[in-house]
Amino acid sequence: MQNKSIKQYLEYLHLSGIQDVFIKPKPKINKSELLKTLEEKYNNCSACALHKGRNKFCYGNGNADAKLLIIGEAPGADEDRKGEVFVGRSGQLLTKMLQAINLSRDEVYITNIVKCRPPENRNPNPDEKRSCLPYLEEQISIIQPELILMLGKVAAETLLGVQQTLTVFRQKTHIYKGLKTFVSYHPSALLRNPNWKKFAWIDLQNLQKEYRKN
Ligand code: SF4
Repeated sequence: MQNKSIKQYLEYLHLSGIQDVFIKPKPKINKSELLKTLEEKYNNCSACALHKGRNKFCYGNGNADAKLLIIGEAPGADEDRKGEVFVGRSGQLLTKMLQAINLSRDEVYITNIVKCRPPENRNPNPDEKRSCLPYLEEQISIIQPELILMLGKVAAETLLGVQQTLTVFRQKTHIYKGLKTFVSYHPSALLRNPNWKKFAWIDLQNLQKEYRKN
């Protein structure tokens, strides 16, 4: 019912002698429980070929009420073993990167484009990404973050739908699903090329400014 109609209806009730109207509040969704239920539901997904080599499905970890959602590419060997995202060396670096801008892992939610490990850590192929994307879209609609940070070119190209170098992606903020979105280096790229850390630090500071604004 539109606001105007509601007002007219309330006036009608008032004229009819009804003084008190009780409106049942919308039940508040427990996002954390909902994500847990969905994780269990999708745990045995076989929608793409990646399920064949998977040890554990890696749905995502962190705060279901997070203001910042971080999206990487795919689980690696450590993640596949534990069933959690960003727990290996890349994950440790990501934790440090967040700490550098006064954020803890408990404050953010972290996930990947695909939830199962590609063999030999190759990039997920278009079919795998397409099959897995509905899970990420659902996570975004549940968490409703205010900001997104995409880690690496694969995540940015897949979600923003354009092919560019990471340098070009990093030059501006983007809008993804109506949300302000930053792009920076994947921590595994920073482990391979420590010289890029100074550029990642610039990205993190930009993200921090926006995070504190909101
Ligand atoms: S990568 Fe995604 S779509 Fe493919 S099997 Fe795993 S959960 Fe399912």
